[in-house]
Amino acid sequence: MVLYKPHIDFLEEHAVDPDKRRYAITEEGPRHYIDIDHYGSFPYDSLPRKWNDAVARYSEDTLQAYGIGPWWLQIMLYRLTDAFKEKNQSKILKLSADMGHYIADSHVPLHATKNHNGQYTDQKGIHGFWESRIPELLAEKEWDFFIGKAEFIKNPPEFIWGRVLESAAAADTVLKFEKQLSLSFSSDQRFSFEERNGVTVRQYSSAYSKAYNDMLKGMVERRMRQSIFAVASFWYTAWVNAGQPDLTKLSNKNFSADDLKEFESLNTAWKNNPMKGREHE
Ligand SMILES: [Zn+2]
Repeated sequence: MVLYKPHIDFLEEHAVDPDKRRYAITEEGPRHYIDIDHYGSFPYDSLPRKWNDAVARYSEDTLQAYGIGPWWLQIMLYRLTDAFKEKNQSKILKLSADMGHYIADSHVPLHATKNHNGQYTDQKGIHGFWESRIPELLAEKEWDFFIGKAEFIKNPPEFIWGRVLESAAAADTVLKFEKQLSLSFSSDQRFSFEERNGVTVRQYSSAYSKAYNDMLKGMVERRMRQSIFAVASFWYTAWVNAGQPDLTKLSNKNFSADDLKEFESLNTAWKNNPMKGREHE
């Protein structure tokens, strides 16, 4: 309430910075996902959960090629903990926004599979369908995001791998159900045309989106709720591990010239460059 609530606009705006960064630097992409099904079958025991062990077994190139989401989150947690120790408010806010993004991504089933946009099963577009279209249609009107208090996470790596394994387990359902449902809708019924910022775009129709959401029995809402809890709990854990600094006495309250330049260059890259690495949609 002391720190995050007054800066909720900043957090909302900058929660998408990591996606903008994908248009600026190549190394950014793999931080958002892990194609864990590259490493055998559930629960993917052949993949060591510790970075050094995983590098020793598969090489860093392979890990980078299939995504480093769960490990990157641990780096973010260290950085945020350090920012709390330094009592550096602008650093805390920037890192909190970034980390929230990676945590939420790890809750998305299609961020845990090679077939991340249904490209192998003729379901291109399913990525944005699950993570954007459905929430945009239903989140504000129908879903409940009161999730209670943040909790201290004793073992962050274990927590995050747990969430990633849940995502991986759900990916199959996400793909299979959409395939099934598509058989009972003609393509006319599946898609609709809507105006967005003055352009007509083809998107999944609301009838089709609602039918899919019903079939998933609240999975998207449930994953969003779990993301919110995880984000709050990671922020809280960083603060506790930093020795619970007094949040009314922070320094660096204004973003530096460098910070502002960085925000600006992210926007420029995002508007002008093609995405580096692989695409979502
Ligand atoms: Zn992302």
